Amino acid sequence: MAETKRLPLREEIPAEQTWDLTVIYKSDEKWEEDYKQVEKSVKEVKAYQGKLGTGSAAFLEALTKILDLSRKVSALYVYAHLKNDQDTGNSTYQAMNDRARYLTVLSQEATSWFEPELIALSEEQLNRYFQEQNDLKLYRHYITQLTANKKHILSAEMESLLAAASDVLTSSSQTFSVLNNADLEFPMVKGEDGKDVQLSHGLYGELLKSTDREVRKEAFMKMYAVYENFKNTFASTLSANVKHHNYQANVHHYESARESALSANHIPESVHDTLIEVVNAHLPLLHRYMALRKKVLKLDKLHMYDLYTPITGEASLKFTYEEAKEKTFEGLDALGPEYKAVLDQAFNSRWIDIVENKGKRSGAYSSGMYDTNPYILLNWHDSLNHLYTLVHELGHSAHSYFTRKNQPYVYGNYSIFLAEIASTTNENLLTDYLLEKTKDPKARAYVLNHYLDGFKGTVFRQTQFAEFEHFMHEEAAKGKPLTADYLSESYRKLNNKYYGESVEDDEAIQYEWARIPHFYYNYYVYQYSTGFCAATALADKISNEEEGALDKYLSYLKAGSSDYPIEVMKKAGVDMTNKDYLERAMKVFKNRLDELEQALSSI
Ligand SMILES: [Zn+2]
Repeated sequence: MAETKRLPLREEIPAEQTWDLTVIYKSDEKWEEDYKQVEKSVKEVKAYQGKLGTGSAAFLEALTKILDLSRKVSALYVYAHLKNDQDTGNSTYQAMNDRARYLTVLSQEATSWFEPELIALSEEQLNRYFQEQNDLKLYRHYITQLTANKKHILSAEMESLLAAASDVLTSSSQTFSVLNNADLEFPMVKGEDGKDVQLSHGLYGELLKSTDREVRKEAFMKMYAVYENFKNTFASTLSANVKHHNYQANVHHYESARESALSANHIPESVHDTLIEVVNAHLPLLHRYMALRKKVLKLDKLHMYDLYTPITGEASLKFTYEEAKEKTFEGLDALGPEYKAVLDQAFNSRWIDIVENKGKRSGAYSSGMYDTNPYILLNWHDSLNHLYTLVHELGHSAHSYFTRKNQPYVYGNYSIFLAEIASTTNENLLTDYLLEKTKDPKARAYVLNHYLDGFKGTVFRQTQFAEFEHFMHEEAAKGKPLTADYLSESYRKLNNKYYGESVEDDEAIQYEWARIPHFYYNYYVYQYSTGFCAATALADKISNEEEGALDKYLSYLKAGSSDYPIEVMKKAGVDMTNKDYLERAMKVFKNRLDELEQALSSI
């Protein structure tokens, strides 16, 4: 196919539009020198195996060496992966990236003895170590966290038996992935330009947003026809995966798969229950939003394939990168001077790789490690969506920056449970700002719709997934076979409950469970919903200048993994074991829905 618009080559991009990686390594040669050093350290660290029990000094030395090794390996990896992503066609960086990955695996293998050996130490012995070595005190939370689930760890012999079987035990998830990504064949459909195009996972999402109803309908019907054809195979892989989670939880003496999965981050199960309970209580809000969508789109029947097309028509707001930069400062102004100084650095010290070039990795992310800048990859286009992407990624980068500035290496990262809160708080603040500044009713409606769609997709939809995931695990634990028919029938009921009466009971949607990779993740999706709600509540507090709200928020950005995520959030002003933050987020959703209903009636 002929390219209509030639993308610039990497070398053609002006330096000021690219990230500055020379502050990690001045040259590739320096990277090579470090690589050789680290290869040696990988060998050296093995020498500490078997010594954790021999005394506090040896213990501290081993721990320091292991952390030091992981720190050096991640610097090598970050440099190579960023270089590789800026131009994936460059074979030098492909090779460096492969070697950095390989070194990561080697270093993990070389230190894999640490945790089992640590867990084998008695509490008395560890307490004695902490008394003897002052320098060890820094690591107390880290060690406590590693040993907290000790009673759920089996004997070394049994754990090694399970570890050896892990390939076999996780094979159904592998089979799903191979079938879903490689073997499944999708039919041809009509694209927006009327030409035939082969359906794919990526294209499906695009086509569902089409303003041409026939286009989105055909994509939807043909997509689910494929899943219907293979429903028994998908039920078999999903059911085996659920049984695997239940089995692992059971042999490790947990009451349930959920208890086991949440215990990894010390999240109480009530957080999960409360989410489902509060979202269910507020489903009438989603139903109202669906009714509004139906009305504005002027449809007699609103189908599941009508849920992603924009209800406010084509984008009425556009920003160039320079304008977006300005909007970022204005939109995040409520975060105060300390935060602004970080944004200044991000823009002035070349943290951001802005424009698209040939071979550059698609999408956007924030990435880096303790000793590097928290870099941002973008593929900039002038749009409101890209402004949101920019503030989102800046949220991650500022979180990383504050964490690394305020925490030692050992606590210089943060869990997924916390990560999306920093990015979506920024998105929420931007929405507040845009609504405050935008007077044109059409543009306001566009911003409100953007927010409500984000909320629908992140809070309602992900909670629906969380509820279904929990249902499957509980049914399987009771011995109920998860057949394709049972999964489909149950999914359809749940889907109808979530979307309400304004949406048609489309038969095809019953197979949606078959195509969601997250159902193989083991209690992961609920964090999208809890994170978005916490962010909505935090942004609301900050925007309304509630006493102490900003300082508390900054304390969360600076905490890293120095405490359990739930505790970090409590200090930030959001108790996620309680339903208040969810209620508060629902109130924001309701207010904006009220406003959109009004705005649309006046356009
Ligand atoms: Zn993110």
